[in-house]
Amino acid sequence: MELACLDLEGVLVPEIWIAFAERTGIEELRATTRDIPDYNVLMKQRLAILDQHGLKIGDIQEVIATLSPLPGAIEFVDWLRERFQVIILSDTFYEFSQPLMRQMHWPTLFCHRLVTDDAGRVVDYKLRQEDPKRASVKAFHSLNYRVLAAGDSYNDTTMLSEADVGFLIHAPQNVIDEFPQFKSVASLDALKVAFIEASERSLEL
Ligand SMILES: [Mg+2]
Repeated sequence: MELACLDLEGVLVPEIWIAFAERTGIEELRATTRDIPDYNVLMKQRLAILDQHGLKIGDIQEVIATLSPLPGAIEFVDWLRERFQVIILSDTFYEFSQPLMRQMHWPTLFCHRLVTDDAGRVVDYKLRQEDPKRASVKAFHSLNYRVLAAGDSYNDTTMLSEADVGFLIHAPQNVIDEFPQFKSVASLDALKVAFIEASERSLEL
């Protein structure tokens, strides 16, 4: 039995915080782990900025609802789910991803949670576990699944190395150069072919 595990942001949908910063014009929300390497510091800063602008979870979801999955992503996920059990392993939050997941017909998503108060203020966040992508693939192995995986960035590399076959897609050149052990593809169409070739079963395009 085989599972296909996909990263979300950068693979199927835009980087949500960056797209959100663009939509709202809140420049400081563009900061990523490249600017602030400590993820907890970065998240606390993001939550403080949301507060300063009086943005409640409902306002945030309204903005995110104006975003679309990347071109071809909806069809790709439909295609993949006809052929594999598909699980999206992401470091986003359920409350943020919801409007985009709706557009993709609700594939299974393992990610993190935001904590909101009664007024809808985002007061905290809960990460599901340490190194969640790798831990998920390990767990699937314990259930006797063979795992094919694809992602675009550093936070995917432990998932890709734990998987039976791992692919980079839409990855920046520095990631491609640093991880030559993973085949790199440039498009979702190329990823279809890569999954077919890596599958134990012969599947038809
Ligand atoms: Mg990504």
